[in-house]
Amino acid sequence: MAYQAPVDDIMHALKTAAGLDGLIERGILGVDEDTIRAVIEEAGKFGAEVLDPLSVVGDRTGSKLVDGKVVTPPGWKEAYQQFAQGGWGGLQAPEEWGGQNLPNLLSTAAGEIWNSANLAFGLCPLLTFGAIDAIELQGSEHLKKTYLPKMVSGEWTGTMNLTEPHAGSDLGALTTRAVKQADGTYRIFGTKIFITYGDHEMTDNIIHLVLARLPDAPPGTRGISLFLVPKYLVNTDGSIGARNDVTCASLEHKLGIHASPTAVMKYGEKNGAVGYLVGEENRGLNVMFIMMNAARLAVGMQGVAVAERATQHALAYAKERRQGRSLSAKSGSMSPIIEHADIRRNLMTMKALTQAARAICLVTAMETDVSRRAKDIAERAAATHRVALLTPIAKAFSTDIGCEVASIGVQIHGGMGFIEETGAAQHYRDARILPIYEGTNGIQAIDLVTRKLPLEGGKVVETYIGELKGVVDEVRASNRPEFGRMGERLGEAVAALAEASRWMGGALQKNPEAALAGAAPYLRLFGLAAGGVYLAKGALAAARNGSGASHGQPIAIARFFAENLATAAPGLKDTVVGGADSTLGLAPEALSA
Ligand SMILES: Cc1cc2nc3c(=O)[nH]c(=O)nc-3n(C[C@H](O)[C@H](O)[C@H](O)COP(=O)(O)OP(=O)(O)OC[C@H]3O[C@@H](n4cnc5c(N)ncnc54)[C@H](O)[C@@H]3O)c2cc1C
Repeated sequence: MAYQAPVDDIMHALKTAAGLDGLIERGILGVDEDTIRAVIEEAGKFGAEVLDPLSVVGDRTGSKLVDGKVVTPPGWKEAYQQFAQGGWGGLQAPEEWGGQNLPNLLSTAAGEIWNSANLAFGLCPLLTFGAIDAIELQGSEHLKKTYLPKMVSGEWTGTMNLTEPHAGSDLGALTTRAVKQADGTYRIFGTKIFITYGDHEMTDNIIHLVLARLPDAPPGTRGISLFLVPKYLVNTDGSIGARNDVTCASLEHKLGIHASPTAVMKYGEKNGAVGYLVGEENRGLNVMFIMMNAARLAVGMQGVAVAERATQHALAYAKERRQGRSLSAKSGSMSPIIEHADIRRNLMTMKALTQAARAICLVTAMETDVSRRAKDIAERAAATHRVALLTPIAKAFSTDIGCEVASIGVQIHGGMGFIEETGAAQHYRDARILPIYEGTNGIQAIDLVTRKLPLEGGKVVETYIGELKGVVDEVRASNRPEFGRMGERLGEAVAALAEASRWMGGALQKNPEAALAGAAPYLRLFGLAAGGVYLAKGALAAARNGSGASHGQPIAIARFFAENLATAAPGLKDTVVGGADSTLGLAPEALSA
């Protein structure tokens, strides 16, 4: 089933949830709506025509290590070259380095499309964008001049090297070593695992960003530095020089995203890999967080992407497949399964969760733009806090629903969903990594509760919840029969979020373990309340703009979300505030008895 970019849905979310018109009017984005739509449409064409046809072949062939070289699936290299030639690699990068300086909001929306069309391909630019961001914000002028133009043009790709066999979620445990040289460079020694696109032949060079520890570094996360380590050294005239001491030792066999090479990387097996410090010594994790925050939002968007793709797939199947007779069917013939109430509920769930997660991610992207582009310092600071608050929700809520929606997609296909031919199974397999990498969703929930809720003494979350309440009041005041009980249900969801947030604030002080036990359900509750409110904003706008099918769907989806999905919020609140004792009731020894 061919992919079609949901341009209208993306524009609707940008305009209603992310407030596109206001941002354009205030000159924050530097582009108009027509340009934004045109770029999204072009990204849609590229996704549908170039990336989508390679998705299944990529899954079946996978990337392989042959005679020490990583071979990507047939068509991959050509598609990557087309991607680079189309200028897609520099969408949001500064003009100074050859980019187009377009807003994050736009590259986030385009990212959904590439990942929907081909998740395993989309990962490569996703990581390169993050590396560009980190070098741009913290690299020396020399590093910027040497590496950014080629990375922005897509001639070279970027990677992110954090994970080691004994250091995954706990990066403080990493042991890769960096030794300073007399010429100011460093030599890197160590093994990194699970490195996405760690090696390939699609481009002439690969720029690795590697976390390592200096000999005299303090222990834990305060002793980590970040280094730029190119696969090939770069001569002073910019040409490719000698091979650096970095090799791909092996590729992992995985559940999904088979075409994305996941590499074990060896640094310094001979004299040490030449590395260049990015930012300051021992402050590497701070720089890496720049890259990780951008990547976390982008991975959240991968969740939206796979959910959208699975929904399109299931919808097409449900229209074709005939089984049983629906209660509303007149004749005795079998009905398309889309007519059955349970299938319609499943399809509505898929659409509603996808659109809610898309809205959360696009709002986070919009706040990123405000944090970087607004003139007013206070506005930039507030947006920076908002990005910090929303990033773990964008990442974890969206990737969780990516898995759930892909699973419902398999269910709608019945037995054929379990058979690889239909493609529904690939979405399900591909989706499963998303809640794990870029910081597991458990770690995102801990981040939300322990670092984000206390921001500005709790004011950041309080102001945000106040804004959600404001939208609920508008829904209630609108008094529209077609909204059903949307206002009431969302009111309950936002009240549940407010109560759970207050409880979290107290628990963090008095009983931190109880707070951690409730962190994941709290994040889910947050996503449901925020997503429901963003869909309601879309419904309010649709209601203001008139009637007809294009206006009816946002209202129907928002109402469904409020009446069928946001209803879980009060239960989640009970879990957060009252579930810790039973969660922690069995001690680890008893649990494993
Ligand atoms: C396909 C793939 C691609 C990847 N790409 C990259 C990449 O490009 N670069 C890179 O550096 N890494 C990459 N990774 C690594 C990935 O980011 C890690 O797997 C992830 O961060 C989790 O680390 P871990 O696997 O060591 O799990 P662990 O840290 O061992 O976690 C195991 C479980 O314990 C939980 N847990 C751990 N600590 C805590 C805690 N303090 N409190 C509560 N729960 C906890 C986790 O949530 C998880 O459920 C990739 C992994 C895969 C599989």
